[in-house]
Amino acid sequence: MPQREKSAPIDDEILERLNRGILLRTGAYKTDDHIVLRSGRHTSEYVAKTLVTTEPTFTEGLGDILATHFSRLPVDLVLTTGYSAGFLGHCVARAHPSRPRFIFATKEKAAAKRTEVSLAPEYRAFFAEGGRVLIIEDILTTGETVSQLVRLVESMGGQVVGIGAVWRRSTGMKFRYPLFTIVNRDVPTYAPDECPMCRQGIPLNRAVGGGVPEDQAEE
Ligand SMILES: [Zn+2]
Repeated sequence: MPQREKSAPIDDEILERLNRGILLRTGAYKTDDHIVLRSGRHTSEYVAKTLVTTEPTFTEGLGDILATHFSRLPVDLVLTTGYSAGFLGHCVARAHPSRPRFIFATKEKAAAKRTEVSLAPEYRAFFAEGGRVLIIEDILTTGETVSQLVRLVESMGGQVVGIGAVWRRSTGMKFRYPLFTIVNRDVPTYAPDECPMCRQGIPLNRAVGGGVPEDQAEE
């Protein structure tokens, strides 16, 4: 068998399949399933946010994928919004060749049920040393949290070098900076009365999809 040349680039499609494979092994990525979203619509494909970072080895694998994608760009800071995205951000910072620091913003409820992000004063000081920031999130639903993180970085005089996430729920989302997501598909959703899985009599998996509290689900 001819050996693959060492420098041969891996086909994007193969790479995406490998990446999705790691996510599948976390148990967080459901495919060929039948799930009810909070909107009431049905879907066959879903990433359960709370399960993404439960296996440290796989979290590191996902961190490697994101770090590798942005490895050619110098990064001073990896910025997330804590907890599950924070574990991922830690792994990205650990794997990135620039050896960036890892910091996280906290989300706080502001007026009219809006959530706003803020940064601890100790973290703000890092921007004086170098403000090239890689933003990492687990799941992008509306993109609002990332937009707030971008504004936060800009207000600190920093420069966003990229945005990385595990899953982008809508491919319509646009940012002014390079965006890379491990799962990047417009997953179809159906009204219950036109759902093909319902028609096939596939039982509903109610363990994921609808049980996510509102404040954790919107990113
Ligand atoms: Zn259905």
